[in-house]
Amino acid sequence: MGEQTIFIFTRQGQMVVPVGLPPGVALEDGIGFDKRIAHDFGALMEGRLFNASDPDGRKWFSVLLLPADKGPPLLAEKGFRCEPLRSLIHGFSYNRVLRMYHLAQWREESRYCGRCGYPNGDADNGEYARLCSHCGRKEFPRISPAILVLIKNERDEALLAHNVNFRDNVYSLIAGFMEAGENLQNTVAREVREEIDIEVHDITFITSQSWPFSNSLMVGFEARHKSGVIRCDKKEIADAQWFSRDHLPELPGKGSVSRFIIDKWLAESS
Ligand SMILES: [Zn+2]
Repeated sequence: MGEQTIFIFTRQGQMVVPVGLPPGVALEDGIGFDKRIAHDFGALMEGRLFNASDPDGRKWFSVLLLPADKGPPLLAEKGFRCEPLRSLIHGFSYNRVLRMYHLAQWREESRYCGRCGYPNGDADNGEYARLCSHCGRKEFPRISPAILVLIKNERDEALLAHNVNFRDNVYSLIAGFMEAGENLQNTVAREVREEIDIEVHDITFITSQSWPFSNSLMVGFEARHKSGVIRCDKKEIADAQWFSRDHLPELPGKGSVSRFIIDKWLAESS
């Protein structure tokens, strides 16, 4: 295997990089820590380092999630700094950094069996699974789908909403997590109904993106207004309006799935 590439993350969604590396440099091939450098992290690595690979199995990496309380001070001392993972996301294609971060979190959060409470080990048949040493229960990486939807009406307008947690006056897409027993179309229809009290149809898939900051998979849709007038729930959605292309509110930042879907709609008229 030779020198092994190691990805090191913090619990706060950051990737550890050498101080001299310019900000925002794509690091999909890892940092090239060899085992000697990684040894600097000493006791922090105990039981936290594990091997992972690309889905096609062609390249192997080691992945480490630092404990929340000990990581950052040690990093500065050793000549490293932390880079927010969000700054490393470019486009919506497969992203090795996001995969490694997702796996690192999962492994840290699956140390004990959810059924009987005994310690989990790693399944030794090559699949990504934790295996209970007592009852044999297997646990796989958790992936939680969440939907985003741009709703169009017959006046060629799009519905954008201001969530209570958004900054300033940013308006974006209706969004929410999938619930048990639903398919994705059910989730879209329910979230729209719950948050703004209208009905939609013609639900069409647009794109998706891994979003491991809460084990998520963001799945983006378009839909058409079917019936009802906007009535915001005021718990999640403070305001929602129909917008034409020439009277837009402040939009979410470039690079997000929401913005990609809004930009696609904007481009339809030109
Ligand atoms: Zn068990």
